[in-house]
Amino acid sequence: MDQRTEEYRERLIDEAQSTLSPEDVAVIESAANFAIIAHGEQRRLSGLPYVTHPLETARKLAAMHLPHDVVVAGVLHDTHEDAGVPLAEIEQRFGADVARLVDGVTKVGKVKYRGEERYAENLRKMFVALADDLRVMFIKFADRLHNLEDLAVVPEPKRTRIAREALEIYAPIANRLGMGEIKGKLEDLSFPYLYPKESAWVESLIASRRKHQHLLGEIRDVAVRLFEEQKIAVLAIDGRMKHRYSLYLKLLRYNRDITEIYDLLALRIIVPTVADCYNALSVIHRRWEPLKGRIKDYISNPKPNGYRSIHTTVTCAHGDTFEFQIRTMEMHEEAEWGAAAAWRYHERGNAKLPEHQLRWVDDLIRWIRKVHDPKELIEGLRTEVLRDRILVFTPKGDVIDLPDGATAVDFAYHIHTDIGNRTIAARVNGSTALYPLDRPLQSGDIVEIVTDPKRCGPSPEWPGSVKTAHARRKINNALRGSVRSKLAGWLARATPKRSRNKPQG
Ligand code: MN
Repeated sequence: MDQRTEEYRERLIDEAQSTLSPEDVAVIESAANFAIIAHGEQRRLSGLPYVTHPLETARKLAAMHLPHDVVVAGVLHDTHEDAGVPLAEIEQRFGADVARLVDGVTKVGKVKYRGEERYAENLRKMFVALADDLRVMFIKFADRLHNLEDLAVVPEPKRTRIAREALEIYAPIANRLGMGEIKGKLEDLSFPYLYPKESAWVESLIASRRKHQHLLGEIRDVAVRLFEEQKIAVLAIDGRMKHRYSLYLKLLRYNRDITEIYDLLALRIIVPTVADCYNALSVIHRRWEPLKGRIKDYISNPKPNGYRSIHTTVTCAHGDTFEFQIRTMEMHEEAEWGAAAAWRYHERGNAKLPEHQLRWVDDLIRWIRKVHDPKELIEGLRTEVLRDRILVFTPKGDVIDLPDGATAVDFAYHIHTDIGNRTIAARVNGSTALYPLDRPLQSGDIVEIVTDPKRCGPSPEWPGSVKTAHARRKINNALRGSVRSKLAGWLARATPKRSRNKPQG
């Protein structure tokens, strides 16, 4: 066996052993040996044996602590398409579930990203896979991450296609599934290929903040001592550099001024319980001055994608600012691995996404199945997937997930078309004052829709102010319908008139 193949195989087994039972590891090992034979002398463009790719894909899945069948499917994911192994053989050796996963991954990968229609079709396949079996998506993430790591040797235009797809499709999906670590890696690996100048500029800015990095080490030491004195158990405390691409986007919002970016470097503290989180926060605030308006309690107010942590920015001796991020291990795992973490907290095969993520996937699939015009599909996906989201509430406390910038009209149509069509006003957060129907809602708003049963259609101005494809579609349908019924009414009234004017006898 090639020595590098052996190295990759060892790394996969090591990773699997850290979380899985010896029986599970044995199955992974036999799948690895099977894949090594199946891929034979095939090579990657980098010159490495091809099988190093599925072995590394599987290792990443094991690192996400996914169950062994997902890891096994990761090992085998290219044996059907690239090595001609029949699905029946995979099924016979590794079971129907693994064969189904390999089939799912193969199908998503078939369509290439070329032209708008292909792009739409690609997206559609991806979302069908997502709805069908989320595990296929996890394998695609691991597969794409490794392809990005190897991208330098891939010729154009394939290189740009892979990077663009990662940045524009995979990363937003990972984000919506709450998989922060995967999203960050997908973006950071594709960023330099798509935006070389901008990426080099971000690197140079980071280099200019080296002194800051050194200071962070000192702060960490002080914090460790403080927590010891206060008897707060700390499971982990580490400095973390902001992901490059999200730093780039943030710089664009802050006049390209890196001194305005408070979370460039953060100290991440992982403690056992929620109470410890708040205790740790007060210890930090007693030692360092917190910056006003920079304390964010995402534990009591989670972000729309489910993210929980406490963030605070403090000023230290030299006037430099640092961000602390405090969370429990469970919150940490969810923040890094999102849906994958949710998956493994449940019985195998019975995994459920957090409810708001599940509803988002469901709504999206229902909508995708209805829309057949590729232009409309792409436009809709841009607003539904690639945009930031807000979470708002009904007066009963149900959570409604909408794109950033959505209005009360979007909210009303999300609840029901009839409610949308009869909306005359909205009230937000219990205020007696009416909330303008074209003003964007904010995350956390409680929205009450005022309807008039006699009102039977939307206002002609609404299509211009709503943000969701769903609301726009329903409004346009209703407006078209009402033009038709007005016309019908006019004709009905006109006809007898004409007959009255008919000359008698
Ligand atoms: Mn692959």
